[in-house]
Amino acid sequence: MTHTNTEGEKPKLPMQGIAQPTREEVLKLPRVHISSHSVMASKMTSLRDVNTTSPDFYRLVKEIGALLAYEATASLALEPREIETPLEKMTGSTLAGGIGVTPILRAGLGLAEAFREVIPDVQVWHLGLRRDERTLQAMEYYNRLPHTVNLQVCYAVDPMLATGGSAIDAINVLKRRNIPRLSYVGIIAAPYGLLKLAQEHPDIDIYIAALDDKLNDVGYIVPGLGDAGDRQFGTF
Ligand code: URA
Repeated sequence: MTHTNTEGEKPKLPMQGIAQPTREEVLKLPRVHISSHSVMASKMTSLRDVNTTSPDFYRLVKEIGALLAYEATASLALEPREIETPLEKMTGSTLAGGIGVTPILRAGLGLAEAFREVIPDVQVWHLGLRRDERTLQAMEYYNRLPHTVNLQVCYAVDPMLATGGSAIDAINVLKRRNIPRLSYVGIIAAPYGLLKLAQEHPDIDIYIAALDDKLNDVGYIVPGLGDAGDRQFGTF
């Protein structure tokens, strides 16, 4: 059956007829870091596989997230710390200032867990965003940032950078908290969402495991992995 609207026209799908940049056009964007690690490539193939079960999918999101967290935290500020080894005193280093991670609900939860495994004292600020379909404004329906914010960096995490809408909105929310450094961490990006995020927030770093070909007419990343939330939590 063909669906029609009240004027008798076929309703337009959200990405139908919208021009999209190619991979090559976004590969050279500054501050975009795409993993080239062999272990990551192998884990990504298992993650994308339609036969991967939800428990394995969630485990893989955490493993991939830990590799991304490792890359994204490589240049964080350090401060000196005096310690004693069993042999002598020395000056070591410790992370200077707190580290925050903001999972965009609900698909970002697995990546936030991965950050906690790499940096156990990371502060987790859950952020629920809902878009008003009419105005396209982001509406925050859940926000748990601690009252005292003393972070050197905060990472907005969401596995799929599709149209870029929620990532842009999340960074806008974080910018209002005056955190000195902000980054986005995701698993797969489409060229369209990557370009939008980089253009809207040229002052942030973007870390992803893979850059895919395009968005399909309904806004799914192709080849992608399907719905990252449903696959993590088994809600089909
Ligand atoms: N969100 C998903 O979970 N998957 C996509 O492909 C796009 C957005």
